[in-house]
Amino acid sequence: MAQIVMDDVATIAPTPHGCGVGSIHHRSSHEELRYENLFVEGGEYVFDGNRVTARWRVAKNGVGRWRLYTINPDLSLVITPDLRIRKYRRNDLTCVVRIIRSFETVFDALKPLDETVCCCAEHGHLWSLFQSTGTCAKGQYVWTWCLTCGAEQISFRESGECLQWPEDMDAITAAGALPTLHGPIVGGTSCNR
Ligand SMILES: [Zn+2]
Repeated sequence: MAQIVMDDVATIAPTPHGCGVGSIHHRSSHEELRYENLFVEGGEYVFDGNRVTARWRVAKNGVGRWRLYTINPDLSLVITPDLRIRKYRRNDLTCVVRIIRSFETVFDALKPLDETVCCCAEHGHLWSLFQSTGTCAKGQYVWTWCLTCGAEQISFRESGECLQWPEDMDAITAAGALPTLHGPIVGGTSCNR
């Protein structure tokens, strides 16, 4: 049975390039926007620095909800009709549900993927200040992610080689290094207990 954990996840500093990538819907238009039309089925977005896919799912009780799927099949976000976000993290025994209160609505932290990709193509990636280290088949690396489009990058210490996800998907898959969820909302780096 799911448990609901009332949780305040740390608010993230706004990070934009200033290149005109704004919220999808401004608050003033929320009244006109029907919940069923919030997203495009199968549409790709960046939520808080992570790439997600929107899908409409109808529960056993017949109620439909928009869900944002991440690269981790055990972690998804449910958007409620009041545009709040609930994070569902499945583990062996249960599903932990956390209400994310960092944003007034989901659109404060969500952008269409193609907009963010265009933005980074024009202005370059905005790599996070946070870095971590790891080891994969190709050796030790330093890892970081793009706050705008959710791309990830690893640089190998020894060779100086640099791989990016998703462009270098094949090489990265072979090395077993990426991608991974990141950031405090879904990545669980600092704020999850
Ligand atoms: Zn980027």
